[in-house]
Amino acid sequence: MEGHRHRVLIVEDHDDSRNVLAALLGLYDVDVLSARDGNEALDALRAGPECCVVLLDWRMPRMDGRAFLVAQAADPALAQVPVIVVSGESLPLAATASKSVRGILSKPLDAEGLVPLLAGACIRRRRVGSVRGG
Ligand SMILES: [Zn+2]
Repeated sequence: MEGHRHRVLIVEDHDDSRNVLAALLGLYDVDVLSARDGNEALDALRAGPECCVVLLDWRMPRMDGRAFLVAQAADPALAQVPVIVVSGESLPLAATASKSVRGILSKPLDAEGLVPLLAGACIRRRRVGSVRGG
């Protein structure tokens, strides 16, 4: 993954879960930003720096995953940012209807499933993807 370091926005209300995930991604040289709910996530995306992917918890207080996807889709500046939904429960069907959703993972997350999905969804890498390389 030379020349590109992924930057992921973790949206998760539980501090422990968020910290564990951030530490896990850190092992894979992924930079991490974090938000505690959908509102904070929108703020973080608007403030920059640009993220490759949003890892979105589904159940959160205030603005949950579903509401975040609606708000994201309504904002042309954010609508293209890929989202991976993380759900502790049954598959959130509403998530599959959203164009920005690239994958749905269930908790607990494992790095073997997450990291390849993240790399495949990365919007920043795709943009420089015309630079061919191994
Ligand atoms: Zn990336």
